[in-house]
Amino acid sequence: MRSLLFAANWKMHLAPAEARAYLQQFLPRYTQRPGREVWFFPTALALETVAQALGGRDDLGAGVQDIYWEPKGAFTGAISAPLAAQTGARAALVGHSERRHVFGESDAETRRKVAAVLDAGLTAVLCVGEKLGERDGGQTLTVVTRQLTAALDGVPAKALGALVVAYEPVWAIGTGRNATPADAAAVHRHIRSWLRERGAARPRVLYGGSVNLKNVAELLAEPELDGVLVGGASLDPVAWTQLVQTEAT
Ligand code: PEP
Repeated sequence: MRSLLFAANWKMHLAPAEARAYLQQFLPRYTQRPGREVWFFPTALALETVAQALGGRDDLGAGVQDIYWEPKGAFTGAISAPLAAQTGARAALVGHSERRHVFGESDAETRRKVAAVLDAGLTAVLCVGEKLGERDGGQTLTVVTRQLTAALDGVPAKALGALVVAYEPVWAIGTGRNATPADAAAVHRHIRSWLRERGAARPRVLYGGSVNLKNVAELLAEPELDGVLVGGASLDPVAWTQLVQTEAT
């Protein structure tokens, strides 16, 4: 049976009370399905609210959008992986394109963050993807390989097998312009073989970038996709419930 993961990146939206109200709409509408998981990445402020509302169900999970690599200390404003884990996170995004391109996060920093996430026992969701100019210049696979190598080289095979990689072309995020299923699949195959060559048994590779109710079925028809990471279209609980229940062949 095919397993699918639907991850909602709420970015800087939904305060704790709004997150609670969202899940009060989502949970009664969502019918659990075998092999299907739904993860929510709220702001750190709403993480505890979301984790508690999900109630420890195996098929639903909460995660943190970003962490700092030190476990604790004098780092004003930062959140560590152990703190996120104690607050109910099961997973952590690392290297989201907004962290890389708005906040200037480097490849070297993604490596330290992945290590911290793994040390804290969380699932790392490593985001990789090229900018428009890099795509137009035929550099997509070079950029993605660089990002994978920087973040993951030397990570043991068992840990590699447990992590999730999200291919999120920067030009597709929040732009309304998604990659075609065939384009995404080509990059997914590359990511999967990079991970398999390093011993990852069944790596999960998600696609992210302007996924919505209209295009999700077509994207999921591509077997290379193990699921999707969704920003804007995850903010409405009713539409998100429909999206995560999309039939996938
Ligand atoms: C994202 O933020 O990871 C994302 C894919 O955003 P959007 O779905 O809005 O393009």
